[in-house]
Amino acid sequence: MGSTDFAEKRRVMVERDIVPRGIDDAGVIAALGRVPRELFVPDYLAELAYDDSPLPIEQGQTISQPFVVALMMQAAELVPGAKVLEIGTGSGYSAATLAAMECEVYSIDRHAALVEAARTRLERAGCAGIHLRAGDGTLGWPEAAPFDAVIVTAGGPRLPEPLSRQLKIGGRMIMPAGAEAGGQHLIRQRRTGEDTFAEEDLGLVAFVPLIGAHGWPETTRTEARRRSPALAPEAAGRIRDAAEPLPDVDDERFGVLFDRIADARVVLLGEATHGTSEFHRARARITERLIARHGFTIVAVEADWPDAEQINRYVRNRPPGVSDDAAFSRFPAWMWRNEEVATFVDWLRRHNDGVSEPQRRVGFYGLDLYGLNGSIAAVLDYLEKVDPQAAGIARERYGCLAPWRPAPETYGHAALAGGFDSCENAVLEVLRNLLDRRLSRLAATGDEGWLGAWQNARLIASAEEYYRTLYHGATNSWNLRDRHMFETLRSVMEARGPEAKAVIWAHNTHVGDAAATEMGRRGQVNLGTLCREAFGTGAALVGFGTDRGTVAAASSWGGPMEVMEVPPAHPDSYEYLCARTGKPRFLLDLRPGRNAALAGDLKRFRPERAIGAIYRPGAERENHYFQASLPGQFDLYVWIDRTSAIRPLAPTAPPLGRTGSWAGTATPTAHR
Ligand code: SAH
Repeated sequence: MGSTDFAEKRRVMVERDIVPRGIDDAGVIAALGRVPRELFVPDYLAELAYDDSPLPIEQGQTISQPFVVALMMQAAELVPGAKVLEIGTGSGYSAATLAAMECEVYSIDRHAALVEAARTRLERAGCAGIHLRAGDGTLGWPEAAPFDAVIVTAGGPRLPEPLSRQLKIGGRMIMPAGAEAGGQHLIRQRRTGEDTFAEEDLGLVAFVPLIGAHGWPETTRTEARRRSPALAPEAAGRIRDAAEPLPDVDDERFGVLFDRIADARVVLLGEATHGTSEFHRARARITERLIARHGFTIVAVEADWPDAEQINRYVRNRPPGVSDDAAFSRFPAWMWRNEEVATFVDWLRRHNDGVSEPQRRVGFYGLDLYGLNGSIAAVLDYLEKVDPQAAGIARERYGCLAPWRPAPETYGHAALAGGFDSCENAVLEVLRNLLDRRLSRLAATGDEGWLGAWQNARLIASAEEYYRTLYHGATNSWNLRDRHMFETLRSVMEARGPEAKAVIWAHNTHVGDAAATEMGRRGQVNLGTLCREAFGTGAALVGFGTDRGTVAAASSWGGPMEVMEVPPAHPDSYEYLCARTGKPRFLLDLRPGRNAALAGDLKRFRPERAIGAIYRPGAERENHYFQASLPGQFDLYVWIDRTSAIRPLAPTAPPLGRTGSWAGTATPTAHR
C-alpha cells in the first residue's frame, strides 16, 4: 500500500472517528491528520493502522485508539511550545502527535525495548528532538520539570503525587485512574496553586495498567485474581438481598415474575451465550406468558429473515415457502436449530391454532435481514476459491473479532494481510448476487403486503456497506447491523398494527443498552439503545447471566459445534458477584427506584462475560469480557448459576418448512 493510500485513510479516519465525536481543537485535528500511524504499528498490521481501535505492539502493550489519543490531547489544552511529559511511550505514536503539535516532548516507558523501538519509529517518521528514556514514569522527570501538561497513557489506581508536583501552576495532568483493573475514569487534574488541585472526570476509558512505585504493583495473574474478590462481599450481599428467587426454567410459573414488564411495547430478552439451553427455556417461559396473558403477537429474533420466515409459516399454519435452503442450515445452525427452540415453536403453533382471528396469531420474524451468516459463508466460499490466503484472514476476522470487542491481540493472527482492498469489489459482487437471488425469491413468495414494500435496493446497499465496513472497522459495521435490526422490528410492528407488542430474542450485547458499556464509548449503539430512544419506558431490556457449566459454540468461524466447558466467572466480573450469592436462580429488578442501593453499588463499570458463536475459553478474559454498567444496561437481570449446552437437532432432520413440522418428523420434540 502506497503512502498516498495511507494519507487517504488518515483523512477518512479523522473525518469518521475524530471530528464527529466532539474533537474540535484545530491543533489536535491537524496533528492526527499528519502523523503516519502506520509507521508506529508492527508491519503486518499497517493495513489496520487507521481502524477505529487500539492495536497490539511489542511487550504485550497497545497503541491507543486514535480517538482516545485525540481526547487526551484536547483535554490537555496544548499550545505550540508547551512542555509536555508523557508516561507510557509505547509505540511512540502519541509522542509523535505531541511533537506534531509543536510541543516540547519528554516521554518515559518502563520497557527499555519499547523505548528503543519508539526511537527508531520516531526517526523514520521524521520526528526529531523528542526526549525519551526508560524508567518508572510514576516518579516523573524531575530534572525537566515543571511541565505545562502531563499525559499518562496507562491506567493506575490514583494520580501519582510526584507527577502532580511536577506540574506548573495552571498545568494539567490527564490520566486514566480507577480502583479496579480493566476500566478507568479519565481524569483531568489542574494545579490551581502551590498546594491546590482541581479534578474533573472526563468519562470511562480502558487502558493497560500503569505499573510502578505510584501505580499498580507488578503482580502475576493469579495474585491479581486473589486480590480483587476482597472488593466483592458487600455488593454480593446487596445482590443477595435484592434477588427474587425464580422457579425452575421449565416451570410454567417462571414467567409470572415478568408480569411487571407486561405493559411494555417491546420486551427484549437477552442471552449471555448463543448456546445455552437454560437461556432459551427461560425466554420461552417468559414469552409464552407475555403472549398468552398480555397480548404480545410478535416474536422477533436475531436470525436471518428468510430462515425465520419458514418458522413463521409453520406457526401460522401456512404452506411452506419456496426455498432452496433449509432454515438455519448455515453456521451457526445450532443457535436456532435446537430442541429448545423446536419446543417453543411447537408451543407457538398450538397457541395459534387456538386463536381464531388471524391478526391475533403470533408471528415469528428474523431481524438480521441481509442474510448475515449466509453471506459470510458465501464470502468465505468465494475467497477460498480465488484467494485462499485472504480466505484464511477473513475467517480469522469473522471469528476473532467478536463485534462487541475490538480485541486487538486477535488481529495478530491476521499476519501477512496483503490486503482486502484487492478482492473487496469481487466479494461485494458475490454478495450482491446472493442477496439478489434470495430477495427475488422472497418477493415472489411473500404473502405479507408489507414485505413486498421493502426497498430491495436499500437492503442490498446496506449489505454492501456492512461488508465494506466490516473490513475497515468494527464500530461502523456493528451500528449498521443493529440499526437494521431495529428498522426491521419497526416495519414488523407497523405491519402488525398500532397496538402490536413484540418480544425480541437476541444476545445481551444487542439487548443491553450499549450506552452503558464500553461499546458506547466507541460510538456504538445497539437494539437496546434504539428501543429505549424510540419507546422510552415502553422498552423493557432483560439481561441473562450464568457462572459456569457447558455451552455450545465453535472454535473458529464455520467450525463444528462443540460442547465446551464454561469456567467459573472471573473475580472482577458481575457474574462473580452473582455467583457469590450462592443462589441457583434469581431476578434482579434494576429499574430506577426499585433497588436504589444495589443499582448504586453495581453502577461502576465491571467486566461482563459475552460468549458468541465462537468461544475460546483459553483466552476468555481477553476475548469474552467487556466493560459494562449493569443497571444502565438492563431493566431486569436473570441469573442462572449453572447452565448447560443447548441440544442441537439431528442434522438428518428434514428441511424445515417442507414437512409440515418445523422440527422435522425424524426428530422427536423434547418436552421437558
Ligand atoms: N502512548 C502509547 C500507548 C502506550 S500503552 C502509544 O501511543 O502507543 C501504555 C504504556 O505504558 C506501555 O508501553 C507500558 O509499558 C507503559 N507503562 C506502564 N507503566 C509505566 C510506568 N510506570 N512508567 C512508564 N511507562 C509505563
